[in-house]
Amino acid sequence: MSTLPSAPHVGDIPPAEFRAAMHRAADLAADYLEHVGEYPVLARTEPGAVRAALPAAPPERAEPMEAILADYKRIVEPNLTHWNHPGFMAYFGITGSGPGIVGETLAAALNVNAMLWRTSPAATELEELVTDWMRQLVGLPEPFRGHINDTASVSSFIALAVARHRVPGLNIRAKGLAGRPEVPGLTVYCSDQAHSSIDKAVIALGLGHENLRKIPVDDAFRMDVASLDAAIAADRAAGRLPIAVVATAGTTSTTSVDPLPAIADVARREGIWLHVDAAYAGNAAVCPEYRALLQGWERADSIVFNPHKWLFTPVDCSLLYVRDVELLRSAFSLVPEYLRTPETGVTNLMDYGIQLGRRFRALKLWMVIRGFGAEGIRERIRLHCALGREFAEWVAREPGFEVVAPVPFSTVCFRATPRGSPESQDAANERILARVNDSGRVFLSHTQLRGRLVLRLTVGNLRTTREHVERAWALIREAASAS
Ligand SMILES: *Cc1c(COP(=O)(O)O)cnc(C)c1O
Repeated sequence: MSTLPSAPHVGDIPPAEFRAAMHRAADLAADYLEHVGEYPVLARTEPGAVRAALPAAPPERAEPMEAILADYKRIVEPNLTHWNHPGFMAYFGITGSGPGIVGETLAAALNVNAMLWRTSPAATELEELVTDWMRQLVGLPEPFRGHINDTASVSSFIALAVARHRVPGLNIRAKGLAGRPEVPGLTVYCSDQAHSSIDKAVIALGLGHENLRKIPVDDAFRMDVASLDAAIAADRAAGRLPIAVVATAGTTSTTSVDPLPAIADVARREGIWLHVDAAYAGNAAVCPEYRALLQGWERADSIVFNPHKWLFTPVDCSLLYVRDVELLRSAFSLVPEYLRTPETGVTNLMDYGIQLGRRFRALKLWMVIRGFGAEGIRERIRLHCALGREFAEWVAREPGFEVVAPVPFSTVCFRATPRGSPESQDAANERILARVNDSGRVFLSHTQLRGRLVLRLTVGNLRTTREHVERAWALIREAASAS
């Protein structure tokens, strides 16, 4: 007697329904990208509105895909901030390009878990191939080996874990850090403009936030190397052990590039790990003229940059390059019996980080590189930088405005300077930001530089044209004269 449940409540949805839903999803995606500019770029959703529009309890009975997709179109899609909108000029742009979206979709269909070569040969080898393609495209030398992670935050965490693993005599894998009075404070250095993910990595690695030294920056928001030298010397004199310096190539606020050759000299002299966080600007190295700004990064021990930031690849896709891949492997490799495989001479991606299971992210990056070609990628990045520079020129020429940081790439930090105290100027810029963002046509973000509120416009979106940047500038000037 069988105790198995009887049909129809087993198996996937019928193939015909799946096919129809995928066709509908393709139309939804294509319509969305074609018309995304008609939405207000910044969500106008009231907090709680999305949940209120949907049942609080899950459905007991299966619902047709058609009904689910209709709710997606009605409730989900409109209640978002539209990162694909041509007026999205906040933070750093991301664009899910056509080739990237196709790759992401097919990766979901395959749903392989690329932990071992044998569990997904093509995913493993495509990852090796595309990370090497990218290495060539950005002009890094051969010893660098690439590895795909979800985010720069995780890539930097892994890089600093390897730096900690390498400390002679520490034996961190076996002994950890706690309860070891003989271990000195292990210090890490970055500029005061470094990304918060470096702080989080230091915290999560048990190094202690107080052991992260924030080095001051120069007029152009680049790490001051004399201060780095002095901080390392002071730590050594106090019996602490410097283990790593993180240079930022393209800081999050101003996209400034730390003086990489001088920092590489310090790292070599001190025998400490050099990690370069190039999450955004590293992508620009596909263009030789921007690669020149990153000169010295090829001397790093590890480098991260995110194709999901400025290389038209859907979130998530972050590339970690390490000079000594065996060191990365020795920091993380651990093979339990149930994951032992007979193949030799193959890469098992689980050996290169903390996660076992991994998504097939190489597929979308492979499709992006092929779908645009190196020249196509370069032209798009060049256009974004040209638009950023042109915007900066408009601002610089306009009485009552100033550009407050150099513009090495496509990001401009600027502010209105109405007569009045610094505090009243901050308030005026806050009002301008709110007015522009309320327009629904442009979304800008802000930062703080030298204690003052600064507006920030970045061009990194595939759909942004000169007209969109002109419109942003018109809205900003309008908001300034109204404030
Ligand atoms: C955006 C950014 C990060 C964080 O990137 P995630 O992939 O979101 O973790 C890290 N560093 C810099 C310099 C960044 O601009």
